[in-house]
Amino acid sequence: APILERVGEGATVELIDVVKEYGTSRALNSLSLTLQPGEFVALLGPSGCGKTTALRSLAGLEQITSGSIRIDGGDVATVPVNRRDIGMVFQQYSLFPHMTVQQNVEFGLQMRKVDAATRRRRAIEALEMVSLDHLAARYAHQLSGGQQQRVALARALVTRPRVLLLDEPLSALDAKVRVQLREEIRRIQTELGITTLFVTHDQEEALAVADRVAVMRAGEIEQIGTPEELYLTPATSFVADFVGVSNRMRGTLSGGTITVRGAKLPSIDPTLPDGEVLAYVRPEDIVFVEPTSPEAATAIHGTVASTSFLGSLRRTTVRLTDDDTIVSVQHSVEQQFLFGDTVALRLTGRPVASAPAPA
Ligand code: ATP
Repeated sequence: APILERVGEGATVELIDVVKEYGTSRALNSLSLTLQPGEFVALLGPSGCGKTTALRSLAGLEQITSGSIRIDGGDVATVPVNRRDIGMVFQQYSLFPHMTVQQNVEFGLQMRKVDAATRRRRAIEALEMVSLDHLAARYAHQLSGGQQQRVALARALVTRPRVLLLDEPLSALDAKVRVQLREEIRRIQTELGITTLFVTHDQEEALAVADRVAVMRAGEIEQIGTPEELYLTPATSFVADFVGVSNRMRGTLSGGTITVRGAKLPSIDPTLPDGEVLAYVRPEDIVFVEPTSPEAATAIHGTVASTSFLGSLRRTTVRLTDDDTIVSVQHSVEQQFLFGDTVALRLTGRPVASAPAPA
C-alpha cells in the first residue's frame, strides 16, 4: 500500500529534569529522556510509576512543575497541545462513534482548515497505510477494537506530525490482534521515520517493538537501553525482575564468585559486598541433568511443580528440596516432565543481576 509522504526526519525529543507534582505527590521525579529522530522508545514500568504522566506532559496535556521539554531543541513550555506537532493514540478507543471512518480521519485536517479535496486524499492515504481504506464509509461504532485502533493511528498520522505518542494502544485488544497490530505500528513508524514514544506495562511488548526501552520506577528512569541490553545486563535487580523472567536464588558471595547451592557463578557486580546475596538467574541459564548421572551428585534437587508448553519451548517450575524455593527452567520441547517428578538442575550461566540478600 502507498504510504504517507515521509515526514522527513522525525523530531528530536528531550525531557530534561522534568518534575510533575499533583498536590504533594510527585508523579515525575526529575525525569530525563532523549529520543533521537526516528527512534522508537518504549516507556515501560509498573502501574503508577508515571508513564502516562510523562507522555501527557510531553503532549502538553499536563503542565509540568519544573524542568523542560524540548522538541528539536525548542522549549515547548508555551506551545499549546495542537501546535506541538504530535500525533497521539490512547488505550480507550477515542473515535467519534457516529462519524464515519473517513470523517474521523479527516477531523484533524478540518481543524487545520485544509480544503476538502486535500483532506479526502490524505485521509484515504492514511487509511491505506493501516489497510482500512475499504472501510472508509463505515461508522466507527461498527468496527472491531483492532480496526478502531488502526483508524485512531491513521487519524494521529494524517496531519503528518513529527512525533507519535502511544499510550497503551494495544491493551484493550485480544492477544492475537495485539501482536499483529504492534508489528504493524512498528512497520509504519519505520516507514515514516516518526519519533515515537510508546507507553506500556507489558515487558514482552516493549522488548519486541522498541529500539530502546526506558524502564521507569517511581517517577524516574531506572535504566534505558536496547532490549538486548536490558535483558542481558539489567543495571538493577528491579530491572532484572521486571524485564523477562528471573529466578531469585540465595547464594554466598566471596572473592568475586557467588556460590548457589554448590554451583559457582561469576559475580557481575564488583560493588556488591561479600556475604549473603540474591542472584538473579534466567530460566534459560538452568538445565536439567540426568538424576542418575555422576553430574547429579553436585546438582540441585527438587520436584516438578508445573510445566507449560510454549510452542517452541517449554517452561517447567521446580520446587527445590531444601527450602521450597520455586525455580523456573526453560528447556526444549523434547524434554517432558510430569507434576511431582524428581529432577536435578545445574546452573549454566552467570546471574544477570545480584543484590544483598534480605536478612
Ligand atoms: P498506569 O500504568 O496504571 O496507567 P502510570 O505509570 O501511567 O500508571 P501515571 O498515570 O502517570 O502512572 O500516574 C503516576 C502517579 O501520579 C500515580 O501515583 C497517580 O496516582 C498520580 N496521578 C496521576 N494523575 C493524577 C491526577 N490527575 N491527580 C493526582 N494524582 C495523579
